[in-house]
Amino acid sequence: MALVNEHFLKLPDNYLFADVAKKVNAFKVSHPHADVISLGIGDVTRPLCPAVTEAMHRAVDEMATREGFHGYGPEQGYQFLREAIVKNDFLPRGIHLDPSEIFVNDGAKSDTGNIQELVRWDNSIGVTDPIYPVYIDSNVMIGRAGVLDEGRWSNVTYLPCTAENNFVPQLPDRRVDIIYLCYPNNPTGTVISKDELRKWVNYALKNDTLIFYDAAYEAYIQDPDIPHSIYEIKGAKKVAVEFHSYSKTAGFTGVRCGYTVVPKEVTSSTLEGERIALNQLWNRRQCTKFNGTSYISQRAAEATYTPEGKAQIRETIAYYMDNARTMRRTLTSLGLEVFGGENAPYIWVKVPNGEGSWRFFEHMLYNAHVVCTPGVGFGPSGEGYIRLTAFGNHEDCAEAMERIRKWL
Ligand SMILES: *Cc1c(COP(=O)(O)O)cnc(C)c1O
Repeated sequence: MALVNEHFLKLPDNYLFADVAKKVNAFKVSHPHADVISLGIGDVTRPLCPAVTEAMHRAVDEMATREGFHGYGPEQGYQFLREAIVKNDFLPRGIHLDPSEIFVNDGAKSDTGNIQELVRWDNSIGVTDPIYPVYIDSNVMIGRAGVLDEGRWSNVTYLPCTAENNFVPQLPDRRVDIIYLCYPNNPTGTVISKDELRKWVNYALKNDTLIFYDAAYEAYIQDPDIPHSIYEIKGAKKVAVEFHSYSKTAGFTGVRCGYTVVPKEVTSSTLEGERIALNQLWNRRQCTKFNGTSYISQRAAEATYTPEGKAQIRETIAYYMDNARTMRRTLTSLGLEVFGGENAPYIWVKVPNGEGSWRFFEHMLYNAHVVCTPGVGFGPSGEGYIRLTAFGNHEDCAEAMERIRKWL
């Protein structure tokens, strides 16, 4: 008899966006003529830039020739891309990495979920709350999160980020083995300053804590003082693994490419106290379980670093950040408390009058025909907030704001 991994059964049935879709569909059935605008799901909408599609066309043509055909590539990614990453994403910020510390993947979601395989099941974990659900759910599946009780996992340390602490999480009051941080943050759209990030690195150095740092939105940072990488902080290479993605940077949600940085210095301990380099473990893991990202996707990613590519993706990001500005301006003028949206494509709005996230979601859907994401879906501290995304087109965004203005 094959016994199932019962940890899976602890996960709540529905994925947040499935719940949202269900409610939106129910509304559409009862209001067949309503024109619904979604500022909900965090997917990009602008097309790939020409530098990227030209590189993809070239790669496809190469694959059609005997000399240019590529079969399995290196599990760690092609050297051309790993070198371009080191040279463009890190060197200009004074961070020296070796290409062997870069692992190209098919997007950051897989690796942010898989990375926890490198550490024992009985480590303790901490997350800022609210948070991208992948971090906790992937730990639930392996039995590390404990049991769910009133929206909280028993073995997870939640570090609340709310208006009360201005979205600056406090260091845990106890030792935690592993901390997940995501900056710029999904869902709150808030960022972390260098001084605050330094506190986390120092905490990790002092407590022998491992930090999993998700930098998927670093390309949206506008303020020159905000760190793009945790390795901008001294000592971080000893304690942090960092995740990047071309999904939000260059619209690759349908292309699939990202990378994980596992510095040679970052180690974890065996029970006997021997230090093991995670770079070596991750390499072993990837060689066994991953067969590389497609050559075409990696050539596409490489093209984001050409001068044309850089300029074109900057333009798309500016387009989305225009939406963010429009949303911030309108919602603030309506007297709402609005966070994020200055260095990230997400706006986090405090629901007025102490209403719950889901109630406000339904009111906005029925009265303004605009879809948002209920904050509580991202963790207990998200209750009383909603998330709006800047990934739509200008016209829809402006129209959605006009409707919300009329409604409120
Ligand atoms: C979108 C997103 C990612 C990137 O996912 P991909 O698998 O690379 O498309 C990673 N982390 C967070 C927090 C995200 O919102």
